[in-house]
Amino acid sequence: MANPYPLLGGSLDLGFTQLKNRAIMGSMHTGLEDVTGGAERLARYFAERVEGGVGMIITGGISPNFEGGGRAMMHNAADIAQHRIITTAVHGADADVKICMQILHMGPLAHCDVSVPPSGVKSRISRYTPLALDKAGIEKQLADFVAAALRAQQAGYDGVEIIGSAGYLISTFLVKKTNLRDDQWGGPFENRMRFAIDVTRRIREAVGPDFILIFRVPGMDMLEGGLEWDEVVHLSQAIEAAGATLISTHFTWHEATVPTIATMVPRAAFTSVTGRLRKHLGIPVITSNRINMPDVAEAVLACGDADLVSMARPMLAGAQIINKAFDGRADEINTCIACNQACLDHAFSNRLTSCLVNPRACHETELNYTPTAAPKSIAVVGAGPAGLSFANVAAQRGHHVTLFDAASEIGSQFNLAKQIPGKEEFHETLRFFRRMIDLHGIDLRLNRRVTADDLTGFDDVVIATEITPRTPDIKGITHPSVVSYVDVLTGAVPVGKTAAIIGAGGIGFDVAEFITHEGPFAALHLDVFAREWGIDFKNHPPGGVSGVEPRIAAPTRTVTLLQRKDTYVGKGLGKSTGWTHRLSLNRRGVRMLNGVSYERIDDVGLHITTHAGPDLIAAETIIICARQTSLRCLYDELSASNATTHLIGGAFKAAELDAKAAIHQACHLAAEI
Ligand code: FAD
Ligand code: NAP
Ligand code: SF4
Repeated sequence: MANPYPLLGGSLDLGFTQLKNRAIMGSMHTGLEDVTGGAERLARYFAERVEGGVGMIITGGISPNFEGGGRAMMHNAADIAQHRIITTAVHGADADVKICMQILHMGPLAHCDVSVPPSGVKSRISRYTPLALDKAGIEKQLADFVAAALRAQQAGYDGVEIIGSAGYLISTFLVKKTNLRDDQWGGPFENRMRFAIDVTRRIREAVGPDFILIFRVPGMDMLEGGLEWDEVVHLSQAIEAAGATLISTHFTWHEATVPTIATMVPRAAFTSVTGRLRKHLGIPVITSNRINMPDVAEAVLACGDADLVSMARPMLAGAQIINKAFDGRADEINTCIACNQACLDHAFSNRLTSCLVNPRACHETELNYTPTAAPKSIAVVGAGPAGLSFANVAAQRGHHVTLFDAASEIGSQFNLAKQIPGKEEFHETLRFFRRMIDLHGIDLRLNRRVTADDLTGFDDVVIATEITPRTPDIKGITHPSVVSYVDVLTGAVPVGKTAAIIGAGGIGFDVAEFITHEGPFAALHLDVFAREWGIDFKNHPPGGVSGVEPRIAAPTRTVTLLQRKDTYVGKGLGKSTGWTHRLSLNRRGVRMLNGVSYERIDDVGLHITTHAGPDLIAAETIIICARQTSLRCLYDELSASNATTHLIGGAFKAAELDAKAAIHQACHLAAEI
């Protein structure tokens, strides 16, 4: 079959070398650099992506020196030896695939007691004291960049990527608000971009002409006072003239308050900016951000927005994404849903990166789905994320799997999640599982609420069921105004113009989003996204956002979101995305209350006490989102009968269980059974 994505599959001639296709694995911090045996684990992780068809890989950020702040460094001969393990594995897997090391100097965001930005301006999100570089310090940083690039070359890399964006060192030279210098490194833009140009020029001079040099420019800083469009163009042209092979566009500073990769960001939202820049350059450009399926990548290339497409998280979600695309098997791709739950959230809390939909990511040497030598007949009860994941992996290994669910379709709670504005990617996960059921010949039996009697004759039974919304013990809880989140999200009950939500966890926030939105799919429309988050893609004011007020349509109802804890509402949400949900609901006028005691519910509403005293939430509808509980009747019954029974997902532990934990547990059991 011909490759359905011919543009993505096309090679690119860089003069001294060729890229075999247009698909790049973008840079991601994994944490593997910091663990024992990390180089070997990274080697396997990257080699699997090479075997999966990617054309070029950019490593996670590697610091050129101590003050650059990352723990992973390219600093001495020992570092070179470790990195050679990685490059050897990549080239061994396919000699035509390139791998470039990203040189990341974190500047004011560095994790060291004294960070070294151009001026003593502290980043809003850094705990560390900034100490402005003097002229000798600047020369030292430049020399260290060059030394790191030379070491990368010695370690067998095909090139380096320099990150000149995101609030790291180079970008803080570029922007006026963080560069207050009045010497040749500050003031007019010619001076502010000098550091970026010097890094590029000096590296090119050192490594020679036949080495890939990628520079990541800030296409849009997403920050008040960020770069003006003319400055972005001028910088990129100067970087090209200084010897870059490729320009890669990046969007955002880490301290920006606009989401750029979270799930509510429309697919390929930023590629038009790359497209505009491409017209001003003679070298190929790379675009990125929320390009998670091959048809999206192909469309980006077809409309001329870029020469190459960088996909980072999609390569965690599935190592084989490119092969599947080129073989006409795109429906077998396990799509990155942009949740950030196991990748960025882990990276931000110093845990190993992985992936919610693919727990093998970054665990390639530990979690393997090898064919079984002794196929079993296995019943799986419950086709939610846990049951589906177990069934998929077990069947893939050669077991005979029968999957039961009481509902008329697979997916369980994911069918609720996919209704939430901005969570439409959950549709893809369900499409993936549907395809896997067909592909691996899983015997799917829907509309079957099974009992222990139905489960005789199987070698093993896996219970992935029996989770139910919790009904809190509040006086008046049976009042007709009280409904469950399930009733709201399935549309079984109408919601009044005033609503109170009891429980401000993940589901409480999602329900608040659901009942205050213009329409279910609004967030996937680029114009709505731009308007709601205050981005001007057309006129490109400084940073893309300066002076642009976010505008949200008038809220459709008045909503109060409540919790008993004293911590701020939303504290338990994901590290990298919690702020987007809080900001979104704030802008929708949702009132958030903590430290609440629920007194009673009656005809006038919900009576509460807070630290400020008694209060009444005059709500027509009171929605309960107060966690879930496990019912283990089926499991207990089966255990008593000596059947080999396993318990996973919400049935195992409802408290604090999310899809990441459910899928992780299911895949581990399926790998071992
Ligand atoms: P479930 O999904 O509850 O599946 C259990 C299945 O068992 C159901 O299909 C049920 O019909 C079936 N069943 C029960 N009893 C029987 C029986 N006797 N016979 C046959 N079948 C039976 N998690 C995240 O990590 N990230 C998110 O962004 C996220 N968003 C969410 C948004 C919403 C609106 C909701 C409701 C949940 C969200 N979650 C999220 C939570 C996540 O969906 C759950 O943690 C996950 O679904 C639990 O998976 P599970 O397979 O254990 O259980
Ligand atoms: P949750 O996140 O644990 O939140 C439960 C909420 O209910 C909390 O606000 C809790 O706050 C409140 N609560 C608990 N017991 C209560 C009681 N007896 N009476 C009144 N209030 C009570 O759980 P969830 O919202 O049900 O979500 C289920 C799982 O799905 C979670 O693990 C969640 O992370 C996951 N999920 C994730 C996302 C996401 O975007 N990542 C989205 C949805 C769901 P107080 O105890 O302080 O009142
Ligand atoms: Fe994508 Fe979520 Fe996996 Fe991260 S954890 S790679 S965002 S699916």
